[in-house]
Amino acid sequence: MPNESRRLLLADVVLLYDAPVMAHASDVRQRLEERERLLSPFAGRSYESRGRERPEEPSPLRTEFQRDRDRIIHCKAFRRLKHKTQVFIAPVGDHFVTRLTHTLEVAQIARTITRALNLAEDLAEAIALGHDLGHPPFGHAGEDALADLLPEGFRHAEQSLRVVERLENGGHGLNLTWEVRDGIVNSSKGREDILADALGLPATLEGQVVRLADAVAYINHDIADAVRAGILMEDELPAVVSESLGRDHSQRINALVCDIVDHSWAATGLVTGETSPRISMGPSIQKAANALREFLFQRVYLWEDRQAEVERAKRVVRFLFEYYVERPQEIESDFVVSSEPRWRQAADYVAGMTDLFAQNAAARLGFREQRL
Ligand code: MG
Repeated sequence: MPNESRRLLLADVVLLYDAPVMAHASDVRQRLEERERLLSPFAGRSYESRGRERPEEPSPLRTEFQRDRDRIIHCKAFRRLKHKTQVFIAPVGDHFVTRLTHTLEVAQIARTITRALNLAEDLAEAIALGHDLGHPPFGHAGEDALADLLPEGFRHAEQSLRVVERLENGGHGLNLTWEVRDGIVNSSKGREDILADALGLPATLEGQVVRLADAVAYINHDIADAVRAGILMEDELPAVVSESLGRDHSQRINALVCDIVDHSWAATGLVTGETSPRISMGPSIQKAANALREFLFQRVYLWEDRQAEVERAKRVVRFLFEYYVERPQEIESDFVVSSEPRWRQAADYVAGMTDLFAQNAAARLGFREQRL
């Protein structure tokens, strides 16, 4: 690995000196695209994108994927992530993870892995920043409640796609590239295994990196939050976790990221004969990551003492959904497509709410615990 890395660095230096002098600001994007030629043959290159639903003039300064990343950061759904629950519902402490800090951690982990594998960092960053935009209030409690209420069910990854395709930008969507949308809609994993692909696998390796980076981020910050909340102690983690991954937060993330890079090395294009690499993990680290995830399900996500809070959150979502299905005229039209069925509008509106907004709206509209 070290010699191959050195070869890449040398190629980078040669390209920088060989690059044509930029006569105008309008040459900047072309120069960035030139740099992309140095990426792995398996990387997603912005100039080879399958494009946008509505073609647009290219930016003079940014590649197509950089543009997507910027559009996501500037959208309203991204701002609302700061007040959406990760695990703990509307937590009072300042240091609990929110969907926004989770999203930033996923983006950073995905960038580290893609950079190490010589894949497209900008593409991974855009997918990561967009992957949870459709998460409803109250975390998975909100998702489960909506799934029971909608005729076609509800999955947050599909809703994230809906946000960028339909709901943002006054109903016009963000018109993102195909690769970013594909990575967003295929970012979820099933419960069984950290590498399971039953729910679909992204077409790009960068999308696959984000999928795993998501798990690396949450299995670690959710443990830290559970310790912060006094639900468990660090030394209660299963033995296989501390033995294989390490004893603290940073050791565990480092072990997972290094293992993913090692076991996905074929993605660099530097392994002879490898024609369809995948982003993966080694069996022992995978086993430890699954054990950590299962431990979280048992001790945190499905923990009995949390269930009253979870059930109340579901009742709030159900109340709001039913309220707005009956009164679509009360929905703020910025957040829905008013030509769509009532249930769709109610679902989009409620799914877009932050925890606090949903709690306040429910209280204002007459939600009372005793009536349920
Ligand atoms: Mg996530």
